[in-house]
Amino acid sequence: MAQLKKINSFDSIIKRLESIFPEQSCIETLYEYHTSDGDYPLLKIILGKGNSRRALISAGIHGDEPGGVETILNFLKNKAYKPFIDEWEFTFLPCINPYGYEFEVRENHEGKDLNRLFKVDDPPIEIVFAKSVFDRAFDLALELHEDVDSHGYYLYQKGINAKYDGYGLEILNSVKKIMPINLDNEIDGSVAHQGVIGKDIDIASMDWWPMALYGAAKDTRISLTLEAASKFNIETRVNAHLNAIKTALTIFF
Ligand SMILES: [Zn+2]
Repeated sequence: MAQLKKINSFDSIIKRLESIFPEQSCIETLYEYHTSDGDYPLLKIILGKGNSRRALISAGIHGDEPGGVETILNFLKNKAYKPFIDEWEFTFLPCINPYGYEFEVRENHEGKDLNRLFKVDDPPIEIVFAKSVFDRAFDLALELHEDVDSHGYYLYQKGINAKYDGYGLEILNSVKKIMPINLDNEIDGSVAHQGVIGKDIDIASMDWWPMALYGAAKDTRISLTLEAASKFNIETRVNAHLNAIKTALTIFF
């Protein structure tokens, strides 16, 4: 394999988080892991601790999708959680694959696609970390991704209750003023309807689980995997994700 080049600095992500939260009391390092290219901490941030509704917002499980990481930093820096903080407890995982983030590769340092490994025995440390936050059920889980092959924004929706039909569509309606929606009938091999891929599958029968299905198995009420199109510039991708997050929180019922 060709020598990888470091493209982004995870240290600078840590520094930015420390400047957003100078007291650092809400930043937790759950695990630190070692690679031949350096050591990486796995960070969790909790805000609004103890509030009745619980939201998980995560990014960077695929290292070559930096827009989600930037979205979470922007959301925190601009205190975009403020309107929701009396009601919601937020868990942020700003970057699940810091090695991949630094080298801008999808996989981790062992060449593993982390979002395929939530059902395996003895998973990599990044998965142990991500799984650890599901000790109590979330009402809402938002996973931020990017897709190099898509010409527009779309999302995967997994809700365990039919009352959330239309939820994803309403989110896309708010995003479309920023980034066009991918209206194809099939996206990434799945049937899509107006940008929503409604995965109502029997999760127990699946050979492998992404994080969203692990969350569903842990009684997350509604889980959205949000996919911004990489072909747009980073500001547009971040704005599209920010809009999706705010709308998801605003219209949640
Ligand atoms: Zn991804």
